Amino acid sequence: MFRLPFRLPRRWLALVWLGLVLAWASVPAASLAAPDQRLLILMYHYIRTGVPASDRLGQGLSVAPADLDAQLRVLVQRGYVSVTLDDLVAARQGETVLPPRAAVLTFDDGYADFYTAAWPILQRYGLSATIYIISGKLGQPGYLACDQLRELADAGVTVAAHSVTHPRLPALSDAALAREMRESRRQLEECLGQPVRHFAYPSGAYDDRVRAAAAEAGYLTATTTRYGVARPDLDPLTLPRLRVFGGISLSQFIGLVATAER
Ligand SMILES: [Zn+2]
Repeated sequence: MFRLPFRLPRRWLALVWLGLVLAWASVPAASLAAPDQRLLILMYHYIRTGVPASDRLGQGLSVAPADLDAQLRVLVQRGYVSVTLDDLVAARQGETVLPPRAAVLTFDDGYADFYTAAWPILQRYGLSATIYIISGKLGQPGYLACDQLRELADAGVTVAAHSVTHPRLPALSDAALAREMRESRRQLEECLGQPVRHFAYPSGAYDDRVRAAAAEAGYLTATTTRYGVARPDLDPLTLPRLRVFGGISLSQFIGLVATAER
């Protein structure tokens, strides 16, 4: 959370408060956010090496630990700090202002290498992360287990949902869609003992019905794979991200990040 960067004399506060109440009553929530706030939401999957050259899909989804290390160093050098998706929600409500260079580092699918490879590097740079978990894979070989999720959540990592079975959500019946949304949240909340408020659409696939189901299931934000820079005044249930493809050069990564700074 970030406090307002100014203080007001006491007698002004009543007037400011009255103004805020009137403004709250007369404008939609989206416009309460201070203008020009931008949020870089980077998207990663595996953090690993050793993917065979023949596995093109796997290569694209896999960033080497040394590359992640170099990328995070660049982020910190450029003044980026980690914020959370809860901070984005608070900024949307006008309750906080995001720092000028704010980032959310997201890791999709809940692979075990987040714990063994990514998290030690993130900690070294004082950065946090959001991990999107396929709840039906929890504890399976190659995936994070519940005790690891608890440890990560205690250390400040945002544990978020990514469905139960990673289906293409727009293709599901209403009942199956609701189950994927609600059951993934329930399973993660049962593991963590704390609320799960954020979601990522599997493969970025969503439509109006899927978005409505995310709202119905109680999620405050949902991210897509649509390319772009997030802002508090955008629809929080269809947030864009910037995908970091495996094997890109550091200068390509800097180019990607520079997109957010324009
Ligand atoms: Zn996924």
